[in-house]
Amino acid sequence: QTKGAEGQTYTIATDTTWAPFEFQRDGELRGIDIDLINAIAEDQGFDVEIDVLGFDGALAAVQSGQADAVMAGMSITKEREKTFDFSNPYFDSGIQMAVAQNDDTIASYEDLAGKTVSAKTGTEGFAFAETLGEEHGFTVTGFQDASDAYGDVTAGNSAAVFDDYPILAYGIATGNVALKTVTDQEKASSYGMGVKKGENAELREAFNEGLKNVIENGTYQAILDDYLGADA
Ligand code: GLN
Repeated sequence: QTKGAEGQTYTIATDTTWAPFEFQRDGELRGIDIDLINAIAEDQGFDVEIDVLGFDGALAAVQSGQADAVMAGMSITKEREKTFDFSNPYFDSGIQMAVAQNDDTIASYEDLAGKTVSAKTGTEGFAFAETLGEEHGFTVTGFQDASDAYGDVTAGNSAAVFDDYPILAYGIATGNVALKTVTDQEKASSYGMGVKKGENAELREAFNEGLKNVIENGTYQAILDDYLGADA
């Protein structure tokens, strides 16, 4: 019998700006991940302290015991399951490639031969780009923040960037990134909350229970609509 999550305060590590999952809105840290963990915490009667550490930093903080969980659009991968336990999945994602809006020379992976692309260090998108690069003869430069990875493309250093499609789509739709997607989405892993393997089982159980409840009571859909809906 593990002790329950109710009444506890958990430190949740998240990424820096990675809209629409975590970013500042009206001067406050918001986004799908933030609103969802807050809704689940409220439903299950625990408290959260959010630590903005960057993706790599968030994973490291959980492994070193400085944070209890990662909530950062973290893909549930076989590799990570060696060192993390995951909640049930809460969002299905995919990886996509984007190029500068005014670039008409890159329309396929073959066009990347001999070039450099960018991706965020430690992500599934980075690993995907590296594997693809071996096949098509291009290299990958890693960045800690998505904005720097995207900026390297608009600056003309990298020919393309690889990231999860909802982030690219949101940035493009809101006019915040001068990029365009030119290839189809590639299947990737779903997102889950990650805790250090063998630890915080009660938090993971409470998350799963709370996720079920917020899906049933419509809160989950309302959060998605708030960020991905027609008037988001
Ligand atoms: N979903 C991707 C991964 O887990 C990227 C997450 C992120 O950049 N915050 O690798």
